[in-house]
Amino acid sequence: MDIQLYNTLTRKKEAFKPIKSGRVGMYSCGPTVYWYQHIGNLRSYVFSDILKRVLLYNNFNVKHLINVTDVGHLTSDANEGEDKMEIAARKEGKTATEVANYYFKIFKEDFDKLNILQPTKWTKATEHIKEQIELIKKLEKKGFTYKTEDGIYFDSSKFKDYSKLAMLNVEGLEAGKRIAVGEKRNPTDFALWKFSLQSGKRQQEWDSPWGVGFPGWHIECSAMSMKYLGEHFDIHTGGEDHVPIHHTNEIAQSEAATGKKFVNYWLHGAFLVDSEGKKVSKSTGGLYTVSELKKIGYNPLYYRYLCLQTHYRKQLQFSLDSLDASKNAYEKIKRKIIRLRKEKNPGNTDVIQYKKDFLEAINDDLNMPRALEVFWAVMEEANMNTKTRLQTLEDFDRVFGLGIKDMKEKKIVIPKDVLELLEARQKARKNKDFEEADKIRDKIKAKGFDIEDLTEGGPSLVPI
Ligand code: AMP
Ligand code: ZN
Repeated sequence: MDIQLYNTLTRKKEAFKPIKSGRVGMYSCGPTVYWYQHIGNLRSYVFSDILKRVLLYNNFNVKHLINVTDVGHLTSDANEGEDKMEIAARKEGKTATEVANYYFKIFKEDFDKLNILQPTKWTKATEHIKEQIELIKKLEKKGFTYKTEDGIYFDSSKFKDYSKLAMLNVEGLEAGKRIAVGEKRNPTDFALWKFSLQSGKRQQEWDSPWGVGFPGWHIECSAMSMKYLGEHFDIHTGGEDHVPIHHTNEIAQSEAATGKKFVNYWLHGAFLVDSEGKKVSKSTGGLYTVSELKKIGYNPLYYRYLCLQTHYRKQLQFSLDSLDASKNAYEKIKRKIIRLRKEKNPGNTDVIQYKKDFLEAINDDLNMPRALEVFWAVMEEANMNTKTRLQTLEDFDRVFGLGIKDMKEKKIVIPKDVLELLEARQKARKNKDFEEADKIRDKIKAKGFDIEDLTEGGPSLVPI
């Protein structure tokens, strides 16, 4: 069965055809590691993870790269302003490398907490300066670059298909003059190399044929993806914000350099927005990190479940209420799986139709909400052989990544101080001091447990 994927290049669902039979080269734009990634950023990586898992489920061999921007991502996407890494290093009184290593480590831990498969390779911008310089040299030789006072720029007017991905109205941009042009020849031109205006002032700078400086943000993705996946590869992903600038520039500089088509399928994930529908980004603050969610009692996999419930091309409105609903669903699945592991129902073993429906859903541009319906139908299919049911759910979970295989009854040892807190909470509730009771509950959560107030048998503690 074909996998249909929505390609931003054509604005259509297309059947996926790999360049090399059975193999997929895939590149996802990664984080700028100057701060923690919030759950909005992470939605982008849950999306690329689902895509990768669907390809794996269809028996493709996937080579997946994610880059780590540890230099040169300036404060605006148009590559103006100051370097985010340099600002963070100054603020934190650390070296830029220390800042990058710290936030990269946390990011990888978030991947594990959210059951996101690690890429085949992480590629760091600072470890590929040579490749970036080589690519700029190629562009220079072909006449696509020019020099200004602050750097080497790409002349977007020389690349005839510049606006094909974003379907931008470049003339409209020129007329509206919404973009600062400065010394640039066209509003959509962008920096390939920036000069250190005062040499020795920056922490991160390198020699180049054009003088001491650092690479522009966009060039790293072209240089690193082509180094490891070839000049023409299958799939490129990122957040929808990358369409008009970052990915448009990646295509322009890559195709100008090689004269070949860069990527066959461009896939973009929609944003996580706050409950008022506003875009949330690191610069405006406002969204939780995975660790913050954990601290207030939410297993990161509740968030993963929440992501699965909305198609990746639709905005997802985040609220703690919706996360509570995901938590209830997730815990229900867990209880059911644990029960199924104990039962021995000899019922029917025919799952062909369910498997077909599941495959159809995931291969229809990653329709996870539909695939979850099939999952729940199997969960609730009372006449099915228990073993078959478990095997089928575990098989579907190769795509969902909810950790079904690990859902087992575990002997939990509850620490004494947590038990004492539970007792204190019971006392507070008896005295109708609900404020105090809630405070104690938060303390219990901070220690990794939550309370389930069951109607029968009183409250019980569950690990988060
Ligand atoms: P950055 O570190 O700012 O370059 O962002 C890393 C990734 O997170 C990019 O692919 C962005 O498109 C994505 N991203 C940022 N904010 C959100 C959001 N609210 N929802 C979904 N993806 C986001
Ligand atoms: Zn990128």
